[in-house]
Amino acid sequence: MIKLSNRIVNLNESDTLKMAALARQLQSQGIKVINLSLGEPDFDTPEHIKEAAKQAIDQNYSHYTPVSGYLDVRQAVVHKLKRDNGLDYTPEQIVLSTGAKQSIANVVLCLVNPGDEVLLPSPYWVSYAAQVELAEGIATEVPASMENGFKITAQQLEAAIKPNTRLIIFSSPCNPTGAVYSKEELRQLAEVIVEHNDLYVVSDEIYEYINYVGKHESMAQFEFAKHRVITVNGLSKGFAMTGWRLGYIAAPLAIAKACDKMQGQFTSATCSITQRAAIAALTGTMEPVYAMQKAFRHRRDLMLDLLNDMPGFITNIPDGAFYVFPDVSYYLGKTNGETIINNVDDLSMYLLNHAHVSTVNGQAFGNEKCIRISYAASEDNIREACARMKQHLAKLY
Ligand code: PMP
Ligand code: GLU
Repeated sequence: MIKLSNRIVNLNESDTLKMAALARQLQSQGIKVINLSLGEPDFDTPEHIKEAAKQAIDQNYSHYTPVSGYLDVRQAVVHKLKRDNGLDYTPEQIVLSTGAKQSIANVVLCLVNPGDEVLLPSPYWVSYAAQVELAEGIATEVPASMENGFKITAQQLEAAIKPNTRLIIFSSPCNPTGAVYSKEELRQLAEVIVEHNDLYVVSDEIYEYINYVGKHESMAQFEFAKHRVITVNGLSKGFAMTGWRLGYIAAPLAIAKACDKMQGQFTSATCSITQRAAIAALTGTMEPVYAMQKAFRHRRDLMLDLLNDMPGFITNIPDGAFYVFPDVSYYLGKTNGETIINNVDDLSMYLLNHAHVSTVNGQAFGNEKCIRISYAASEDNIREACARMKQHLAKLY
C-alpha cells in the first residue's frame, strides 16, 4: 500500500465537490440528476469578458505573468475596490490567485503557525476548516443560530478569542446560509478585533454582487480596522466565471508580500488569459451581473415558496448568495423501510439516490440539522427538483 502523508490522510474531502462528482457520476449512467449541490452560477460568462480572453490568446498572452498578477490587472482591482466599496488600496497590496479558494489558503498559510487558533463563525464554508487544519492550526467554531439570522454577535466573538487566536474567517453574503452582515454589525465585530494584538480577519466577499438587501458592506471600510483586514473576492460568482480561476486579496502590504512569496512556490500565478479577461470584467459594463442578480432573487423566492410547502423544512430568508440552508431535523430518525436517516448526510444521500437531486449535508459547514440547497439552477429545474424531493420525503416515516 502506498504510504501517503498524514496531512493528506487526515484531510477531509470537500463535500461540495464530492456531491457534485457523485451527481456527475449518476448523470453519466443516464440518470437525470438535478444538481443543486455545487455552488456555481448556471449562467455563461458575459460576452465582453469572453471577447477579451479571445483577444488575449491572439495577442499571445501565453507566458508566465508576475506572481501577483499583471500590474494593469491589479490596477483594475484597485479601481473596482474604489468604485464598488470606497476602499483605497495600491496595486502592491493586491495578489491575484487561482480562485478565492487559493487566496484564502495563501493567507492561512502565511498567518497561522501550528497550534494557532482560527475562529470560524459557523455555519462556515467547507474549505476554511480544511485549510486551517492543513496549516496545523486549530479551527474553532463560533456558532450562529437560525434565530439570530445565522450571524454571530460582537459579544460572542469577544468571548471566543483566546491568546493564541490569530485569525477569523467569515463570508458575507454567507455560504451556506445567505446571511448578510449589516454595516453596524460589521463595525461591532471590527471593534472587537482591533482590541486584540495580532488578530486578523479574512472578509470573504465572493458573493458581493449576489445581495438582495442593498449595498454591499466591506469589513475594510472601517479605517480603524483596515490594517487587520484581508479582503477576499474574485470573479467566480458575480461574473459567472468559476472555471476561469481568478480570486484576489486586498491586504496590508506585508501580508500581500507574504502571499506573493507563498504562491511563487505553489502556482507561480493564475492563468494569463484569465487575467486579461479580468480587466474587462472589473472595468466593463455591470449590466450582465445585475441581470444575474435579479434572476437569482427570483429563484430564491421560488425556492422558498416550494420548500415552505414541504413538511419538515424550517427556512430563514437568505439575504444573499444562492443557497438556502433549511433545518431538516424533522426527518432525522425516519426511514423508508430500508434506509434509516441517522443524520443530515444520510438525508442528502437519500435525496440523491432516490429523488436524484444533489444537495450538500450541513455537517460539511459545521451544522448537524441543515442541508444546503443551491438555487443557481433554472426555474424548471428548481420546480422539478422540489417536486421530486417532496415525493420522496413523503415516503419517510
Ligand atoms: N469563498 C466562498 C464562500 C465560496 O463559496 C467559494 C466557492 N466558490 C470560494 C470562496 C472560492 O471561490 P473560487 O475559488 O471559485 O474563487
Ligand atoms: N464554493 C462552491 C460551493 O460551496 C463551489 C465548490 C467549492 O469550491 O467548494 O459549492
